[in-house]
Amino acid sequence: MKPGRLEYALLLPMLLGSVTAASASGRMTQFPGLHRAPWSSSVTSTQVIHVSGAEIQIDFAHGDLDISHNDIVQWVKTAANAVSLFYGKSPVARVRVLVLPIADEAGVLTGTTWGNVDGFPAFTRMRVGQHTTEQDLANDWTMTHELVHMALPSLSQNHHWLEEGLATYIEPIARSQAGTLSPEKVWGELLRNMPKGEPGATDQGLNQAHSWASTYWGGALFCLVADVSIREQTQNSEGLQDALRAIVAAGGPSIRSGPSPECLPRAIRPLEHRS
Ligand SMILES: [Zn+2]
Repeated sequence: MKPGRLEYALLLPMLLGSVTAASASGRMTQFPGLHRAPWSSSVTSTQVIHVSGAEIQIDFAHGDLDISHNDIVQWVKTAANAVSLFYGKSPVARVRVLVLPIADEAGVLTGTTWGNVDGFPAFTRMRVGQHTTEQDLANDWTMTHELVHMALPSLSQNHHWLEEGLATYIEPIARSQAGTLSPEKVWGELLRNMPKGEPGATDQGLNQAHSWASTYWGGALFCLVADVSIREQTQNSEGLQDALRAIVAAGGPSIRSGPSPECLPRAIRPLEHRS
């Protein structure tokens, strides 16, 4: 009998267990170069938007930007829309996005996401260069990548590759499904970058590999294999997206669930009782 999509959600931890190996540092425990919590910057203005039933509070920290705040708001909205379309709904009900202008820089510099901050299930800090252009925002992948993280709890350091791998794999697909990135671009970039995730001759697996390439592209390669495996077993009628949608639809754990080495199996347990 053909397995249902919830059963494929159950496959995720099994697939996870089939891979030996490690990662970069967990996001929850690392504030590199910062002397205060990332969410404590003073805010000069705020806008609240609603996307697929989720409330997104966009806070602007002190600093100049060449582009307008409305350009930034539209950028966040476009990314949130793509992520909600991919998962079928927003993985969390409330999100806070802190936009931190960085003087004399250009482009979207970095994004980082944490769970459970000051009453918000998800908090994302985006560092945006002062001279960022509208075209920079149109080309940016970072905002979507960060919001993709909302659907998965922070994992132990050994499994950080799954957090980044899922976000790396899903982000271009979500943007493509939302119509803001062409399929040719998606597959061109995946084809160009996936080989970076191939293990070296002495690597012991993802849990033991600490490089950036293994964490992001090794993790993405794992997700591609998981996706193809599900599609092979369902005559291409279902894929990884269906499994992730089932978890989100069932109210499974998300970024708000906090770090735990057991959180992924725990995320799946409610689904076992439902199936
Ligand atoms: Zn990430």
